[in-house]
Amino acid sequence: MSSFTNTRKYRCVYCGGFAEARDHIIPRSFICREGNSGFDDVNNIVAACGRCNSFKSNKIFDTIEEIKNYLFERYCNKYIKVLSMPDWSEKELSELEGALKKSISSYMRQKKALELRLSILEMPGLYYEE
Ligand SMILES: [Zn+2]
Repeated sequence: MSSFTNTRKYRCVYCGGFAEARDHIIPRSFICREGNSGFDDVNNIVAACGRCNSFKSNKIFDTIEEIKNYLFERYCNKYIKVLSMPDWSEKELSELEGALKKSISSYMRQKKALELRLSILEMPGLYYEE
């Protein structure tokens, strides 16, 4: 993966979202500390979305599954309010108006997107091939 200028080209190996970043599976800071200059080894770099990359930060994990499990917990904790919102039916939404309708519709879209992300985080290694 040489370039991430086309962000729609790559998918995040963790959540399946559009990749905007190159994630070092073993953090650069750790490898540099160990005196190894191979931190840009292609086997250590995967495509990741900004949020997964930021949540994972420089933590060290043994497997991709461990990373995905960690990220799953982070997403659940961070977005607990959106995820615990009740689902509104189309009929219920159609009975609302103005700012309230806009706000609840926006939350519903956010919740659906998060649920999709979480379902992909639960799938072991869907986007990762060894
Ligand atoms: Zn992601």
